[in-house]
Amino acid sequence: MSLSLSTSLKGLEQSDIRVMSLECDRVGGINLSQGVCDMETPPQVIAGAKKAMESGDNFYTSCTGIPPLREALAKKLLSYNKIKADPQENIVVSAGATGALFSACLALLRPGDEVILFEPFYGYHLHTLLAIGAKPVFVRTHPPDWHFDFSLLEKSITKKTRAILICTPSNPSGKVFTLPELKAICELCEKHDLIVFTDEIYEYFVYGDAKHTSPASLPQLADRTVTISGYSKTFSTTGWRIGYCVCKEEWAIPISHVNDLLYVCAPTPLQFGIAAGINSLQDSFYSSIRASHQKKRDEICAVLDEIGLRPHIPQGAYYILADASSLEGNDSKQKSMRLLGKTGVASVPGRAFYHDGAGDNLIRFCFAKEQVDLQRAYFALRNLKK
Ligand code: PLP
Repeated sequence: MSLSLSTSLKGLEQSDIRVMSLECDRVGGINLSQGVCDMETPPQVIAGAKKAMESGDNFYTSCTGIPPLREALAKKLLSYNKIKADPQENIVVSAGATGALFSACLALLRPGDEVILFEPFYGYHLHTLLAIGAKPVFVRTHPPDWHFDFSLLEKSITKKTRAILICTPSNPSGKVFTLPELKAICELCEKHDLIVFTDEIYEYFVYGDAKHTSPASLPQLADRTVTISGYSKTFSTTGWRIGYCVCKEEWAIPISHVNDLLYVCAPTPLQFGIAAGINSLQDSFYSSIRASHQKKRDEICAVLDEIGLRPHIPQGAYYILADASSLEGNDSKQKSMRLLGKTGVASVPGRAFYHDGAGDNLIRFCFAKEQVDLQRAYFALRNLKK
């Protein structure tokens, strides 16, 4: 029997991010490519999971998540995101934000639906849409502040458009959508009856004057938005796979059915651990990780500037897109490889975030790393000038 792959997975290949990580391991380099946060998991989170395992909470749960986690999330959504959510009706806990977005898209979109995707985009967003047969329609954001043209956004909307996908703060650009931008998007959504999918996994990492606003906190958007987030980044638990989505009950029910089909439930004891973290960690925890990331952002930006890789300073998340025009190479892959070869520091080619090669003069660095690794990376990066 000849094996032919699913057509919906066409184009799904090993990402540049994984390729660079493998290459980095091969040469024993310093990996600033992958968005894996090296920070310590808070002990309260670990203790909560350990207690749950030891007391026998090791079995399937409801496909919407354990009640204590949904209750903790509802409180947090009200206080931090200004989103009113009923823990029984509006929240679905999933296998990471990735699982929550996939379940939501599969439940709410039809093959052939067009979805606006801001560019540069996060690869999983693109591939989620493609895998379910939706058609991404790209709207570009432009450095240094990653603004976009509203008239182009409006022109991109057709009769087939069903949704807009927002990532705020954004991976890879660090763009934090402003209130005026969200209000303008809101008007378009009302006019054209669109859904908003918003990935807010970096919601706690905003710097300087930037302020995180959840689209669903705008009253007119509350009922047409699926808010997606999780604790991979905030609690440094990327391997735990705990995320969630929040939306009106009419949507939460079919999303929970898809979530059940794909994952059955999120890992039970780890849900308890995340709930323990949300309930016990104070504001000072969130402000200290924000301050620590901001310090790292400022330091890496200064080094990149010094070596001629001008950074587009991010307002949020923990990535930097830097101008790679000064590096030799015909495209961003060659430029990233060149940087790895000369300095031992791995980055991600900018082309990974655009559909048409527009990112060929950009490379992305992740700065959510331990200080000792960052200091080694800065030392190595300065070799570029020698
Ligand atoms: N969303 C964005 C924008 C990300 O950058 C990432 C990880 O890099 C994720 C989601 C993954 O989240 P999770 O681990 O909760 O699936």
